[in-house]
Amino acid sequence: MKKFMYPGSFDPLTFGHLDIIKRASKLCDVLVVAIVTNSGKVPLLTVEERRMLIQEAIEDAGVKNVEIVSFSGFLADYVRNNGISCIVRGLRDIPDFTSEIPRAYMNKHLYEDVETMFLLTNIEHSYLSSSATKEIIYFNGSIKGLVPENVRR
Ligand code: ADP
Repeated sequence: MKKFMYPGSFDPLTFGHLDIIKRASKLCDVLVVAIVTNSGKVPLLTVEERRMLIQEAIEDAGVKNVEIVSFSGFLADYVRNNGISCIVRGLRDIPDFTSEIPRAYMNKHLYEDVETMFLLTNIEHSYLSSSATKEIIYFNGSIKGLVPENVRR
């Protein structure tokens, strides 16, 4: 069984993340969406809230082969211990690429059987990030069109 993992903070889930989930889920048997909680960022939503919102959004999108997990440990260990063959990451721009490359090399160093696969964002989501979304929420702006409807509510 081909099991891929898409890790992130998803705080909150955006249309950019959902697009990567839909596309990556077509490339494997099971896509494990991993809510990683040791990012050092101050969270807006609890892990349980994030899990519930991702679950609803993927159901609304009709995606079936997704498992949602959360963990705060070491990604390479999680991947090794759970039979995951590929880590999926989304790329928006050159800064994303620059920060992703050393992580991919390090994960390969820590666990040589794992591959990292980058999916280029859909152009219409290339400016979208959870941090910009949080900033708009903070200033009571509209996040319509940035996040799935259930997340906006
Ligand atoms: P953010 O950078 O929005 O805080 P995360 O830490 O949750 O997001 O990122 C998880 C993964 O999703 C990373 O690989 C990130 O590059 C990717 N990602 C984030 N936003 C987008 C987007 N708009 N389009 C494609 N991929 C994205």
